[in-house]
Amino acid sequence: MMDDLKELYQEVILDHSKHPRNFGKLDPCSNEAHGYNPLCGDTLNVFLNLSSDDVIEEILFDGKGCAISIASASLMSEIVKGKTKVQASTLFDKFHDLVTKEDSTLLEDDDMERLVVLAGVKQFPMRVKCATLSWHALQSALNGNKDTTTE
Ligand code: ZN
Repeated sequence: MMDDLKELYQEVILDHSKHPRNFGKLDPCSNEAHGYNPLCGDTLNVFLNLSSDDVIEEILFDGKGCAISIASASLMSEIVKGKTKVQASTLFDKFHDLVTKEDSTLLEDDDMERLVVLAGVKQFPMRVKCATLSWHALQSALNGNKDTTTE
C-alpha cells in the first residue's frame, strides 16, 4: 500500500473515531444489541428503528472502545442506514471478507470502497475483532438478540 494512501486511511479512521457519526442512544427503538470484544475491551450498543418492511430507518450507537472499533461503528452506521436487513447482512459478509481476505473484486462495491480504510486490520488479526464488533452487534440487533461477544 502506498504511504500517502495509508496516511489518508488513518486520517479517515481518526476523524470517525474522534467525531463518530450517529453516536447516541435511540430511545425508543425497535431493535438493539450490545457487543463486547474481550480481547480489546471494546463495548458498543447498537440501536435501530426497523420499518415493517425491514428497512433500517434509523441507527445510532454508543459505547467505548479503541479508535478502530469506534471508527468502524461510525462508518457502518452511515452505510447501513436506509438498507434492508438482507442488504445489511450481505454487507457484513463482504466487510468480513474485506478485513480478512485479499480480494480486490470486493472494491467494485461502492460501500466497500468506503470501508476500505479499515482493510489494513488484516495484518493485525486481533484488530479484526475491533473492526467487526459493531457489525456483529448490528446482526444481533437485526435478529432480535440482545448480546454478542466476539470470540
Ligand atoms: Zn478494539
